[in-house]
Amino acid sequence: MFPWKRIYRFEPNQKTIIIMFTLITLPYSNEDLAPVISAQTISFHHGKHLQTYVNNLNNLLKDSELKDNTLEEIVSKASGAIFNNAGQILNHNLYFLQFQKSSEDNKPLGKILELINRDFGNFENFKDEFTKKSVGLFGSGWVWLSLKSDGKLEISQEQNAQNPVTRGNIPLLTIDVWEHAYYLDYQNRRAEYIEKFWTIINWNEINKRLG
Ligand code: MN
Repeated sequence: MFPWKRIYRFEPNQKTIIIMFTLITLPYSNEDLAPVISAQTISFHHGKHLQTYVNNLNNLLKDSELKDNTLEEIVSKASGAIFNNAGQILNHNLYFLQFQKSSEDNKPLGKILELINRDFGNFENFKDEFTKKSVGLFGSGWVWLSLKSDGKLEISQEQNAQNPVTRGNIPLLTIDVWEHAYYLDYQNRRAEYIEKFWTIINWNEINKRLG
């Protein structure tokens, strides 16, 4: 479903081939999302935080019966540390791959716009609800727009590493409201980060996730 790359690596001591998850390559340079998200934030968030989740998951999977599963399957089946690290990789992959350069008049288009109009009335209503849930999420987590199995859109608050894929939904759009996502650029001003977030969404990418 999603283009996550895994590489096959020879492990000399174990004389086996193990499958490793890899850090996604960004479809833009670190500077491209500024001033909404600075190059410094991208460099820490993608290069350090996400890389750590990838390293942790690869280590944890060595002794796990889940090691041959896809990332989405691992997120759906695992618990504890494996769930936390796999969930954070899936969440961050979808987050980082949904962005493009900032544009003030950025708006949804195509199929996703039709679904938003059908289920929320219009884009402004949708944006208000998504924004309220993002500002109001207590602690660390994510707000998601996802497609439920009954074909309806849903906006949900998810704590920590959670992802609506665990309920059988297709994840479409997300905002990371862990402090590490915005603290270097906005400090405590989460609402300002969320307001600017709308200018960098690549709605063509969101349409692709609808399949
Ligand atoms: Mn994050």
